[in-house]
Amino acid sequence: MDDRTRLPINLPGSRIVPRRLTEAVGDLAFPGDCLICDSWIEDARAGLCLDCRDELFDAAGPACQRCALPVGPFADRASGCGDCSGRRYGFDAAVAIGPYEGPIRHLCLRLKSVRGAWLAPRLIDVLAEARAEELANAEARAVVPVPLHPWRRLRRRYNQSEALAQALAHRLGLPMVRALRRVRPTSALWRVGRVERHRQMQGVFQTNQKSLEAILGVPVLLVDDILTTGATCSAASRALKRAGVGPVMAVVIGRVEGKG
Ligand SMILES: [Zn+2]
Ligand SMILES: [Zn+2]
Repeated sequence: MDDRTRLPINLPGSRIVPRRLTEAVGDLAFPGDCLICDSWIEDARAGLCLDCRDELFDAAGPACQRCALPVGPFADRASGCGDCSGRRYGFDAAVAIGPYEGPIRHLCLRLKSVRGAWLAPRLIDVLAEARAEELANAEARAVVPVPLHPWRRLRRRYNQSEALAQALAHRLGLPMVRALRRVRPTSALWRVGRVERHRQMQGVFQTNQKSLEAILGVPVLLVDDILTTGATCSAASRALKRAGVGPVMAVVIGRVEGKG
């Protein structure tokens, strides 16, 4: 529930509305617009109209279990696809709703701003349904967000990966553990190539000793919004594994194609 609905509402010329009443109002369905196509929907909490929801589920086709890129329906998905075989990642498996294009790209861009934070649970609902089997196979015991550098976090007041991790933890009934710290800021990684990305990410993450105890030796889900070359999730996974946490499954909303 949105924090604002927990506060008493001051109606003009009235006394403060009791909290119980505002909570009851929060349970009612209000119509609204679909987040993607702006068509009218009966319950705005659903966020998406049925057509757009179908489109998102269609995007969640067969994917490589190692790097989350789409693959043909008969491909061997467990041992890596044509694109990732021979590549080394820090994580053991990866899962995305689907390719970073169309509605997935649109929603990821909106999620980047704090005003889009409420999208996180909607996207996680789609992910958890579309990728239920992969998530169950991970047998994870905790959810770990990819952190932002503290300066960036302060400037943006928000980390979309943490919003997603929180929603996923809630959905799966697992704890969210802030096990990682970003100790060095990085420049905009999309400007540089694969090798440079991996080089720049070295030593960027460290673990938070205090929060590690609960997750030592257990499988975890590492959550970010998108996966491009895998440099960020690899560096974060390596930091976790060095500290004795794992196996690690990278969980993202969109998988950027064409950059590996
Ligand atoms: Zn729609
Ligand atoms: Zn692959």
